[in-house]
Amino acid sequence: MKNIVITGASRGIGRATALLCAARGWSVAVNYVRDERAAEQTAQAVRAAGGRAVTARADVAVEADVMQMFDTAESGLGPLHGVVINAGIVAPSQALADMTAQRLKRMFDVNTYGAYLCAREAARRLSRDRGGGGGAIVLVSSAATRLGSPHEYVDYAGSKAALDTLTIGLAKELGQQGVRVNAVRPGLIETEIHASGGHPDRAERLGAATPMGRAGRPEEVAEAIVWLLSDAASYATGAILDVAGGR
Ligand code: NAP
Repeated sequence: MKNIVITGASRGIGRATALLCAARGWSVAVNYVRDERAAEQTAQAVRAAGGRAVTARADVAVEADVMQMFDTAESGLGPLHGVVINAGIVAPSQALADMTAQRLKRMFDVNTYGAYLCAREAARRLSRDRGGGGGAIVLVSSAATRLGSPHEYVDYAGSKAALDTLTIGLAKELGQQGVRVNAVRPGLIETEIHASGGHPDRAERLGAATPMGRAGRPEEVAEAIVWLLSDAASYATGAILDVAGGR
């Protein structure tokens, strides 16, 4: 059985990915920052699907938390074979001119710095030259990196654009280490993240105007992530896969 860390797995895309991983034979370290109960529910669902599971509270924007999360995963499950860097935030829709410095800092702390910290730990622990057994890293970026998200959250779009670039560079760094690095860019997906931006119905409302005429489901993004993790994607690295219904 293979072992994986999934950040932000208490809800939404991370939770759907944890459940699909479990169904495909992975054991899962379920990261969360605030909602312990939801994380425990994800862990129970992983166990019900036949995997082992541990929960690990960590704010991905705090280095000590990230180190502890990876240690908890390895001590609870064993050596890691995969990492999904999924935790992310948005903030209420605003023009850049109205954003506070505090908001900008937190956006880049969680979405960019946090993702880089998690990717660094994944590189340290999976790379063959450092004693790891190889594996796969998947970063959850966003279609916002192509669209820019004007008048909504250009901060979020930029914070995710760094993940696209990280995917390209880290894939090249780890190409000889048995570690593949890929990203998915979801479009409008029905999760609770839109409520934190002040628009709970955003995915459904804007999804209607996309080429496929609907929002996506977290399970549809999870399918792409789990494919990129799997041996079926053995020659895919440095790839950025849009899962955005043509948006
Ligand atoms: P969600 O339902 O709001 O879930 C967010 C998850 O991230 C939760 O598990 C949350 O934990 C965790 N989290 C938030 N801040 C964290 C932090 N500082 N440290 C650790 N964990 C943290 O979001 P989602 O829609 O599933 O989004 C997942 C990823 O997909 C995000 O990176 C998002 O940017 C990206 N994405 C989403 C969409 C979409 O339309 N939904 C589109 C494109 C990209 P708690 O439960 O403990 O708060």
